[in-house]
Amino acid sequence: MKERCTKYEALFTFADAKTLNEHLQECEDCQKEQAKMDRVSELINEVKPFYKKKRTAPHHLKVACILFALVIGGASIGVVGTNQDMMDYIKYGETLSAEDYGFPVDSYGFLLVE
Ligand SMILES: [Zn+2]
Repeated sequence: MKERCTKYEALFTFADAKTLNEHLQECEDCQKEQAKMDRVSELINEVKPFYKKKRTAPHHLKVACILFALVIGGASIGVVGTNQDMMDYIKYGETLSAEDYGFPVDSYGFLLVE
């Protein structure tokens, strides 16, 4: 049994296209390898646009989500973040006093400093 030519991979990787093609002209084994590679390239080309599309869609979605969060978050922080009482009202349904925070307070609700 004739030994299979193993040059294809080396030629494909290291040699230029001309050398590879010259060898392909005279080597049946490598022609088969080349056919396989062509098939793979075809498949890649077939799949590539779909794959790219698939990848970019969620990416755009992610960017849109981040932008949306930034706009909504930024707007609400701008309005609410500067007003602690409003933040408390939103979080707890009422404005919190120092006592509610767990600080020691006197009977007037002022912070008790010892
Ligand atoms: Zn060969």
